[in-house]
Amino acid sequence: MRELDRIGVALNGVRKSYGALQVVHGIDLTIRDGDFVVFVGPSGCGKSTLLRMIAGLEVTDGEIAIKGRDVTDLDPSERGIAMVFQSYALYPHMSVRDNLAFGLKMARTDRAEIERRVGQAAEILKIAHLLDRRPGQLSGGQRQRVAIGRAIVREPDVFLFDEPLSNLDAELRVSMRVEIARLHRELGNTMIYVTHDQTEAMTLADQIVILRDGRVEQTGTPRDVYANPVNTFVAGFIGSPRMNLLDAEWRGSGKVRLADGEIGACLDSLQAGERIVVGMRPEHIRIVAGGPDAVKATVEFTEYLGGTRYLYCRLGDAQNVVVELREGDDIPSGSTVWLTAPSERRRYFDSSGARIG
Ligand code: ADP
Ligand code: MG
Repeated sequence: MRELDRIGVALNGVRKSYGALQVVHGIDLTIRDGDFVVFVGPSGCGKSTLLRMIAGLEVTDGEIAIKGRDVTDLDPSERGIAMVFQSYALYPHMSVRDNLAFGLKMARTDRAEIERRVGQAAEILKIAHLLDRRPGQLSGGQRQRVAIGRAIVREPDVFLFDEPLSNLDAELRVSMRVEIARLHRELGNTMIYVTHDQTEAMTLADQIVILRDGRVEQTGTPRDVYANPVNTFVAGFIGSPRMNLLDAEWRGSGKVRLADGEIGACLDSLQAGERIVVGMRPEHIRIVAGGPDAVKATVEFTEYLGGTRYLYCRLGDAQNVVVELREGDDIPSGSTVWLTAPSERRRYFDSSGARIG
């Protein structure tokens, strides 16, 4: 494991069951202090549960430490965390200023200090002109800024975000995403951010933690998990459009049968005739004049997006392949093409989905 200069959050054997249903299965995780870490995975995989356990909102088996301090048995208010929810959870009858100040007033922070922190948060989030409004007089994006502001004034060690942008429209989501990245750069705190959206994960994270069914499938930088997925789940989940995962057969002697063609591969410890999966990202696929090391496909239709085009193709055995092109002439539907990808870009998985090459 990588040397950690300073540890922000450490999970050791963290588990959660609801009755007989176990939803988080023994998670061990070390988060470096100051990192932006994104928990990503499909709906229901346990992201919110894990975040709520770190926050102290759920009873937990296992141990949780924040900045070297065991917080497993501490209340949420004693953990040095602040959480931002998808639903904003603002007090509708209070002004923005009072919403921001409320938690500090409850904690009996002195008035000058409250004013200083509220002013600073309002400035960071560019909401100083909204301080006298009520939540009902704000747009969705402004409300989410206030919710984030309420976390900032607490000056936590660790920020926890649970799908904070999911209620916003697509355009606002992109601009708030940039704001959150800027916030992390300015504050430098450890941030843990939960989302089902792989684009948010890829764009925001220093480290991505990919979860499935209450287990960590892979942890790494966005570049790591994109280039070197450990299995077909991660390969298919990270990246849009997704990696083409094509059923194929290992023929032995460096050959893979793919649809009605054959490509070369260096794979060990397989028996000739074993089923494998060949992974090729849409942007790595090239259209070439013919074999060897290419497979024949028919172009079914094309999506034109300006800078890029997606070709939806079908192989001889009816498997679908998406190809991303950035330049070149249009290729009419119905055309026959030959597809290949540089060998160093191809990924191979065994029939269980585990990476083998
Ligand atoms: P995610 O945030 O990744 O969508 P959750 O952490 O909310 O997933 O839920 C993980 C699993 O735990 C799901 O199967 C969900 O149905 C279940 N779950 C969550 N909260 C409860 C609860 N209070 N009681 C029973 N099951 C729950
Ligand atoms: Mg959730």
